[in-house]
Amino acid sequence: MEKLIITIAPTGSVPTKKNTPHVSIRPDEIIQTGILCEKAGASIIHIHARNPVDETASTRFSIFKEIYQGLKQETNLILQISTGGRAGMAYEQRSERLSLKPEMASLTTGSVNFPSSVYANSPDLINSLALDMKTHGIKPEIEVFDVSMIQNALDLVEKDVIQTPLHFDFVMGLKGAIPATIENLVHLKNSIPHDSTWTVAGIGAFQLPMCVHAIAMGGHVRVGLEDCIYFSKGKLASNQQFVDRIVQTSEIMGRKIATPDEARKILGLI
Ligand code: ZN
Repeated sequence: MEKLIITIAPTGSVPTKKNTPHVSIRPDEIIQTGILCEKAGASIIHIHARNPVDETASTRFSIFKEIYQGLKQETNLILQISTGGRAGMAYEQRSERLSLKPEMASLTTGSVNFPSSVYANSPDLINSLALDMKTHGIKPEIEVFDVSMIQNALDLVEKDVIQTPLHFDFVMGLKGAIPATIENLVHLKNSIPHDSTWTVAGIGAFQLPMCVHAIAMGGHVRVGLEDCIYFSKGKLASNQQFVDRIVQTSEIMGRKIATPDEARKILGLI
């Protein structure tokens, strides 16, 4: 089976130091986490920015730039910048960071309810972000919160806005999105083109079981405090611990771990 690509998502938009001291907030913390997680076996880092003062999600270009430059200098990780809208929904706020030309960026191809808000991604906005990625030579990671988002991505391929082979991230178990079950994971996998690659991000307690299913099914995995702050019930995790656990689990299951350069080959980045 293909080697396993581990994505680390150390920050996200939600957890703060009050929730867990292990969450990476400042650029130097995110860079340090990237160094540790690369050593542990991660090959992609999914990047969000936070305001250093109040830890809220930020759209500030200078913060994204500092994180991007630090990680590029200190690691060989594939840098994947989020274009998620929790910090600010407007297109301009979400596209500016793409001018950094990371190798990858996230692209959510539809709208979904979050637990207490609407994550709105209009067809125009998705199209514009995808075109920016095409212009800058950035490979999108298509964030799928429900099955319809796969079809939306295929429509963009049809219009030549995004290019194949596609790479998907199935976000499962978030309240409002597709439930995290094996049946749903199999259905998502069977709904994407055969030459696509895919990863799964299980939210909360679903992180570990969904990763185990993905390892067995030939998919890839995303872990990190963006999706889950607990290692086990009541016990807080660090980002590196999550990567260590996947490396151990995958080795027990007989699947080797991809280096960043091997991940680049698998994803068609080189
Ligand atoms: Zn994210």
